[in-house]
Amino acid sequence: MQMYSESDVDTSRLSGKKVTILGYGSQGRAHALNLKDSGFDVVVGLRPDGPSWAQATADGLNVQAPNDAVKDAAIVMFLTPDMVQKSLYASVIDDIPDGAMLMFAHGFAIHYKQIEPRADLDVALIAPKGPGGLVRRQYEEGHGVPCLVAVNQDSTGDALQVALAYAAGIGGARAGVIETTFAEETETDLFGEQAVLCGGATELIVAGFETLVEAGYQPEVAYYEVMHELKLIVDLLHEGGLRKMHKFISDTAAWGDMITGPRVVNEETRATMKQVLTDIQDGTFAERWIAENEAGMPEFKRMMQADLDHPIERVGSELRGRMDWLEE
Ligand code: NAD
Ligand code: MG
Repeated sequence: MQMYSESDVDTSRLSGKKVTILGYGSQGRAHALNLKDSGFDVVVGLRPDGPSWAQATADGLNVQAPNDAVKDAAIVMFLTPDMVQKSLYASVIDDIPDGAMLMFAHGFAIHYKQIEPRADLDVALIAPKGPGGLVRRQYEEGHGVPCLVAVNQDSTGDALQVALAYAAGIGGARAGVIETTFAEETETDLFGEQAVLCGGATELIVAGFETLVEAGYQPEVAYYEVMHELKLIVDLLHEGGLRKMHKFISDTAAWGDMITGPRVVNEETRATMKQVLTDIQDGTFAERWIAENEAGMPEFKRMMQADLDHPIERVGSELRGRMDWLEE
């Protein structure tokens, strides 16, 4: 494993060079503000009629239409939704200078060949391992969120060093930057969010809730057990791994954990996980997601609405409303 720290990075490689951030959502806002506070020359590229223009301007940033924003840029970072990157690339490519670097925070568009970059460009990835809000907050507090770095095309011979300077600018080098490839970042990121973090975790919560409620227990009690208290456990795991969790839970909970966990996440679940990974590796997942976008996202909208209409949402929002110490 190759990990870079601040001492490995020469941020002067970006001094006097223009860094263009396309998109101003979760990651875009954090990257643009952190880079600006690190002393870089930052321009944000947004649609003049888009929803983020006013906010980026109010945050004190230089905002321009995407085609103007990429002119004279040394780096063009794509921080729009992954599914928009292909058409955005096509619309700005003629204005991107020779030898500039295209950057991404997730490898989807490059790895699945949605974008096939011009040969004179460098192509690199800096993927923070956390949401944009955290990337900004940790930076302001003098820390950083760890990042992954990868280079997919190195026309200038300087791509890795320039990408690392960018990572330092957003604070990531304070926590460490691990070298990876576009394939590894894209496939592990998709697998993690599908099987464990978002898909796996929420399905586990909802199934636990439904099991208790169908057995006649009160939904409010079920909610506390399977959703509310999850944070306590996740915090322990995040801070100190399995060891810290085991130190803080009761012996009864630990015994139940060890004999029951493998009954729920069993051989069949593991075989399904392997299939999920295969679908990601061979492009089946990407193909379906791209087709869903081209069709106007009917399935996406239907399933999202079903999630939002689930009874656990009604119970949860009522109970959370009484806990005024919860962050929104
Ligand atoms: P987001 O949905 O929060 O924000 C997208 C931004 O793009 C918005 O400002 C939107 O107005 C703008 N936009 C949309 N269409 C546009 C267009 N046609 N032209 C110009 N701007 C347009 O996106 P995000 O979650 O920050 O994701 C950005 C990238 O970062 C993605 O590649 C994603 O995979 C990656 N990423 C996200 C996270 C995360 O926690 N959200 C973490 C790591 C990596
Ligand atoms: Mg779900």
